[in-house]
Amino acid sequence: MKELYYKFSDYFRKQGFKGRVHKVTVDAGFSCPNRDGTRSRGGCIYCSNEGFSVHTRAPGLAIEQQIAQGMQALRKRFKAEKFIVYFQAYSNTYASVDQLKRAYDTIKQFPDVAGLAIATRPDCIDEQILALIDSYTAKYDVWIEYGLQSIHNRTLVYINRGHLYEDFLDAVYKTRKFKRIKICAHAIVGLPFETEAMILDTARAIGQLKLDGVKIHPLHVIKGTALETLYRRGEFKPMTRDEYVDLAAKFLEYLWPQTVIQRLTADCPPDLLVAPLWLLEKQRVLSEIERHLAAQHTFQGRRF
Ligand code: SF4
Repeated sequence: MKELYYKFSDYFRKQGFKGRVHKVTVDAGFSCPNRDGTRSRGGCIYCSNEGFSVHTRAPGLAIEQQIAQGMQALRKRFKAEKFIVYFQAYSNTYASVDQLKRAYDTIKQFPDVAGLAIATRPDCIDEQILALIDSYTAKYDVWIEYGLQSIHNRTLVYINRGHLYEDFLDAVYKTRKFKRIKICAHAIVGLPFETEAMILDTARAIGQLKLDGVKIHPLHVIKGTALETLYRRGEFKPMTRDEYVDLAAKFLEYLWPQTVIQRLTADCPPDLLVAPLWLLEKQRVLSEIERHLAAQHTFQGRRF
């Protein structure tokens, strides 16, 4: 039977990884130029690094400890055997090359680590940093994840991203000079004032770039963010689950069939989530997207 979309688990199998592979999320203590005033102040309107993952709440723990504890928990819970260390919090290329090397080199202490994934902003990269990241590709599966969110500059300005779509394209072109680094884009569905056509413009553009990976998630409101203020004032309405399921399925149709879908919804600690509460039923969201794709007789790449 044809796969409905290209899952990360299928990618690991294709790459020849033996056994279960899981991501270990770490907070290396970096900052973000969109929060410290270098690009703008306040950050993206939805920004809450504590709220972006149920795993990123280990302030003060050394990277080694975070990796060791993360691996132990994933071994116990999922019988994981191999790991991708994921530098997730804030902008993980926003430091000197020496500082970055010290942080990334931590993975060398763990023989079961098979990969390195680095999340950052498209305006936080240069040739020197890319050369450093490329140096890990001889031994590891290496990913750089760029937050794009939308190709519409009007939206990027409204959500206070502090960069434009052109910065993302520039980062992709620079990264492609290093052929072994895999590129993943993050996109958000349900951004303020975005119509279905605008969301699918983003899907089409990502599809045409034939990226190695994509992460898609619905915009959700986290406590203490500027988006929460908009939500409380009635100026932002989150999508319903049905709306998101339909749009996520349509988004997949425009992607390149060989782009790995690394994420199709979001994690958020329940005590920090304001809305929509259906986000907490992660498995249900994923199953409904699959059911919807199957019912529509469609799949990733159908409109690519
Ligand atoms: S780029 Fe990421 S860390 Fe920086 S303000 Fe935006 S969401 Fe927050």
